[in-house]
Amino acid sequence: MTVTLEPTSNGHRSAEPPLDHDFHNAWGTIYSNNAFISDSRARQMWEEYTVNPGRVEQQYHVLLSEYTDRFKSFFNGYWPITFHSHVSDVLIPTTVASLILNTASTCPLVVEDPALSPLLKDDPEPEKVREFVRNLLGWNDVHIKTPKLAIVDGIYGCAYGPLAHSSDEWEYRIIGSGPESFYVRRSDFVTEDTLLNKLVEAKKEGCVAVICDLVNASDGSVFPPEYFRLLRKCCDKARICLLVDEAMTAIRCGAPLVHQRPEYFEYGGTQPDMIAFGKGMGISGIAINFNGLMMRHLAFHKEDLIRQSIRFWRSMVTRPIATPVLIEALGILNVAAAEDWPARSEQIGKAFREFITRHAKNDQSPGEEIVRGLGAFIAVPREINKRFNVMAAFRRRSAWARWIPKLNSSAAVDTEAIERYLIGSDARHLRHVMTGEANQLGTKPLWCWICGIDAMTEDWCRTCFLGHCGTEECAKGFNTHKCL
Ligand SMILES: [Zn+2]
Ligand SMILES: [Zn+2]
Repeated sequence: MTVTLEPTSNGHRSAEPPLDHDFHNAWGTIYSNNAFISDSRARQMWEEYTVNPGRVEQQYHVLLSEYTDRFKSFFNGYWPITFHSHVSDVLIPTTVASLILNTASTCPLVVEDPALSPLLKDDPEPEKVREFVRNLLGWNDVHIKTPKLAIVDGIYGCAYGPLAHSSDEWEYRIIGSGPESFYVRRSDFVTEDTLLNKLVEAKKEGCVAVICDLVNASDGSVFPPEYFRLLRKCCDKARICLLVDEAMTAIRCGAPLVHQRPEYFEYGGTQPDMIAFGKGMGISGIAINFNGLMMRHLAFHKEDLIRQSIRFWRSMVTRPIATPVLIEALGILNVAAAEDWPARSEQIGKAFREFITRHAKNDQSPGEEIVRGLGAFIAVPREINKRFNVMAAFRRRSAWARWIPKLNSSAAVDTEAIERYLIGSDARHLRHVMTGEANQLGTKPLWCWICGIDAMTEDWCRTCFLGHCGTEECAKGFNTHKCL
């Protein structure tokens, strides 16, 4: 494959370079720089919104159902329900508990039963519904009044709230608040009985869901498929909901959702109940799989009852997502489907892994891993990362740098092209063009080359298009970089 850097007719470089060296991408919140304009539906709505916002607002519910349907079909049966601006607002025990209660209270077993349904009775008996739902979920006062989440070791968690108690970073731990999570350790996976007992105990202590992620957000290590199988099995037996945090892994890890990769999905039985989504999707939230291991007991056998349950939840807020955000999120999803980003992310991951291995194998001590992660979520040891002069995303205490490349770069699927644009014959020219553009716009490289937070100083390399955040330590590290 040949990729050339074509100048456009007005003499500027093309809007999108074949491959740039920003693998930070705002902590993975950017799948593509141009998704939006590649989707005619979203572009048309956006253009209309700038001219006549009232007319687009009138179509709000049409757009929201279109997004819901598109999401559900792209992610194979996960219905998006709650929307939040950041994923830290999603994994809050009370939010998860209320969502489960809403779903159970509006399930067919309730709304189709003349003795129970508030919709079918003139004198609704909320106490009866409450009692029924508690029995159905196996919940008592503890789950309602002081709900907790059970988290599987190594989960990223949140920047604030209850999950921050368990963060690797002390800066987050000192602001953790709310009930401590229930911890499921790797050692609990030793036998089925051990794990099951642990989950039974979790439920007794008020846990409303177990949360796990399959690729560690800090160092890229992968959750063993046999552990995931055991976890599903035991959640099913303990009758506790399972939620997979897919904020970083959706679309990017070789399948619409990372847990739908063949090694995790297997025969397709007992699947998770919920996912948390966010980052590149343009909006965060929780999506429910009504065939999930716990949700299937709620017997949602008709789509219109699912839609009704979702409507009840969303009607609590006037606008579940702001209109411009909704249009953008729809555009992202449409392009992800049209360009098959899940398959592409697998190709990108393969090409990058080949490239990294080819260049770093001599640096590696015996038995040491040089690349982790799945698909286009790639983790490289900090030391090895340095030799590539790229911008990576770091967790502060982690020895690993994360490469979260854009999914639309034309060259990213070709290991030779990656080499050429990143460190080979075209690298200097590409960065020279970026420097020229930054000078014109009065900007600079966005991310500190050493620690990954915002680059702040005017002390940046015009040859490599790399900068730093201005702390003494990062400045020192930055000044040792070897120019391209
Ligand atoms: Zn820094
Ligand atoms: Zn340099």
